[in-house]
Order: sequence, then C-alpha cells, then structure tokens
Amino acid sequence: PEMRRNMQYTESERLFEASKKCIPGGVNSPVRAYQAVHRTPVFVERASGSHIYDVDGNAYIDYVCSWGPCILGHAYLRVIKAVQAACENGLTYGAPTGKELKLAELIRSCIPSMEVSRLVSSGTEATMSAIRVARGFTGRDKVVKFRGCYHGHSDGLLVKAGSGALTQSVPDSKGVPADYTKNTLVAEYNQPDSVQKLFETQGKEIAAIIVEPVAANMGVVLPEPGFLEFLRKITEDYGALLIFDEVITGFRLGIGGAQGYFHVTPDLTTLGKIIGGGMPVGAYGGRKEIMDMVAPVGPVYQAGTLSGNPIATTAGIETLTILKETPEIYTQIEASARTLAEGMRGHFGESVCVNQIGSLMSIFFTAQKVKDYETATSSDISRYADYFNYMLDHQIYLAPSQFEAMFVSAAHTAEDIAQTCEVLRGYGR
Ligand code: PMP
Repeated sequence: PEMRRNMQYTESERLFEASKKCIPGGVNSPVRAYQAVHRTPVFVERASGSHIYDVDGNAYIDYVCSWGPCILGHAYLRVIKAVQAACENGLTYGAPTGKELKLAELIRSCIPSMEVSRLVSSGTEATMSAIRVARGFTGRDKVVKFRGCYHGHSDGLLVKAGSGALTQSVPDSKGVPADYTKNTLVAEYNQPDSVQKLFETQGKEIAAIIVEPVAANMGVVLPEPGFLEFLRKITEDYGALLIFDEVITGFRLGIGGAQGYFHVTPDLTTLGKIIGGGMPVGAYGGRKEIMDMVAPVGPVYQAGTLSGNPIATTAGIETLTILKETPEIYTQIEASARTLAEGMRGHFGESVCVNQIGSLMSIFFTAQKVKDYETATSSDISRYADYFNYMLDHQIYLAPSQFEAMFVSAAHTAEDIAQTCEVLRGYGR
C-alpha cells in the first residue's frame, strides 16, 4: 500500500467506544482488544490478498491472517466463488452431504493417521471432543497438557493456557470449578523429565497427552529434537493416547501437518483454522478403532447442529484442494518467513530471539534462546508493545501480543516482505 503519514484511527475509536457498551471489552475474543499493546484496536472493513483495510481507510500488510486460517491470503477468488455458489443451495440442512465425505477424504489423504474424523465448528470443540474420546477409549480420566500450550477454552483445558490467557496473566479462568481441572496435569514443554515424573506417579490413570507439536500460543516454540518422539514412546509404554493439537500446524507446516513434518504419528489429531478456509470448522480424528468410540457407533457422545455445515465445508474443500495441488506454496511461504526472520535477526542482533519454522514465526525480546515456557516469558513484553505500535503505525499488522504467532500467507509477495523489512529497519533498537 501507499505509505500514509499521520494515520488516523478516529472511526475505529468511535466503533470501539460503542462496542464496549454492548460487547464485553468491545470484542468477541479477548486478544482482539489490544490490551497488551495499550491502544484502540483497528476495526477492519475488508481484506484482500496480503492486505487488510480498516474503517479509517488505512491499509496494512497483514501477518495475523485471522490467526492462521488465511494461508492463501484473504478473499482468495476460487474459494470465494465456491462459497458464493454453495450459498445459493441453502446455508445448512442438518443432514449429511457429500461435501462432508469429500472433506474427510481430503483430510485423510493428507494426514493418514486421521483414518476416521468428525467435523465440528471450532478448534475448542475439536480438542474438547478428542479428549472425551481418549478418556472413553482408555477408561482413564487424567490428561497431561503443557504449560503455555493453548487448546481452546473448554473448562478442563483452561489450565496454564497460552495465547490471550497468557497475555492477560489469567492462566486459570474464574468460573471453572476446581473439580473440572483436577484431572488436568501440567508438564513443561520440551522438558521430558516433567512428563516422565507424571507418568511414574500416575501413569495408569493418564488417558492422554495433548500437545501442540509446535507450540504457537506462547509465541512460536519449536520442539527440541527427540521431544515429540519421547511423547510418542511414553504414551505407548503406559497405554495412553497421544493427541496432537494441530489446529495451527495442520496444513500450515506442510500438507501433512506437524506429524508429516516431524514423522511422529499421534493417535488422535485435532484440526481447525485452515481446514475451514476462513469459515468455522474444526475436526478431530484418528484410527478407526479409537474413533469407533464416537456416537452413534460408540458410547462417547458428541454432536453439533452446524457441524459439517455445507458452506464451511465448501471453503475447506477448496482451500485444501488448492494446497494439495500447489505444493510450491509451502516452499514459498517458508522462504518468505525465513527472509523476515533473517531481517529481524539482522536488525535486532543478539537482543532478540526469533523462532521460525515454515510460515510460523515469533520474535521474543530476550537474549535467551526461547525453548520452553520459562524462556518464552522472559521476553520483555513492553518492548514487544513498543515494536508492535511502531509497526502498526507503519502499516504492518502484527499480533497484538507477544504470545502469538506471526503468520505468512501465499499472498505475501516479495515486495510485501521487502517493505516489511524496510519498515523494521526504521525502528529504533
Ligand atoms: N488449539 C490451538 C493450538 C489453537 O491455537 C487454538 C486457537 N488459536 C485452539 C485450539 C482453539 O481454536 P478455536 O479458537 O477455533 O476454538
């Protein structure tokens, strides 16, 4: 976009003040409120390709990409056209369609461990349901999660969560009875010993480990070599299931997700974001023997009025088909992210840690190597806020929190990346 001097945000400010009167904090998801960066959120008017446009007429290069779904960029024509055509046939039926079969087959063809999968409408539902299945299948109650990993806002998983819950320092939400979380055990990401200890003492009661194979809700934290393999082995040894929460990494790290990338196969996988192509879709799945627990085949109940919605599945099918047909996309978005990461490292030097894998990345304002929750939270969040504000005022739209990922899409051009690096070079260190 053309660079604007003295950007105005008056219409966003007006809408935010009005929204605060009838929506909690003015937003429908907490991190959108920009609390961590102390300013009024930008209200979006529309988006196209790599850009979003706000209600004051400002254009931005967007590295939030709706928190992951928009891997092809915004308003990708083929997806939009397919959705428009699908709308003509009705928005929902509450009855099975061939589209649901097609999406399930597409998912299985890319992620073979998802032999049987069930569609839901959000990532939260996917993880909540996967855990219910794991408990039903093993007959055990306890679940291990990692500090700083976020798996949606269901009661039992809102313990030491990441994302907005981390930014706002309320890792444990009010309104969640202690009885709901007493079966949630918390381990440290990338620290096998912490997992080992839990299994040594309670191994026979543990139904599953749930993990983001690449943590992306405490900023992006890569698994250390051997960590995922360790989780695979210890769950097998104790008869527990391994659940990969691939809501972010699925179809993001590659067509086979994180499990394809690292060659570690979980028992159950949860998906969201990209598989809906911008519409609300989630999925959970695994081996038939496990998924046979799910109603109406088995005794684990899970349902949804809008599950497998025809419009949402249309957007998902188109998006996954394009990704499958165009493997170069992954090479391109990874190269873009690498260029950005190198630009950041070059500019800030040793005073920051930039973690990048595929098209996922984060900059941490710490001199430490960020490899777990403790090192992630050593980042100076006031420096992040200052950096965020500078970038936004120079038309670069980043996550308004340290503890989120930066997403690169196929719509980001070499010029977008170069312009981003140029803005960065103008930021004082
Ligand atoms: N799991 C992970 C890894 C996520 O990042 C998120 C959301 N960012 C969720 C689950 C929850 O998904 P949703 O917001 O669609 O409920």
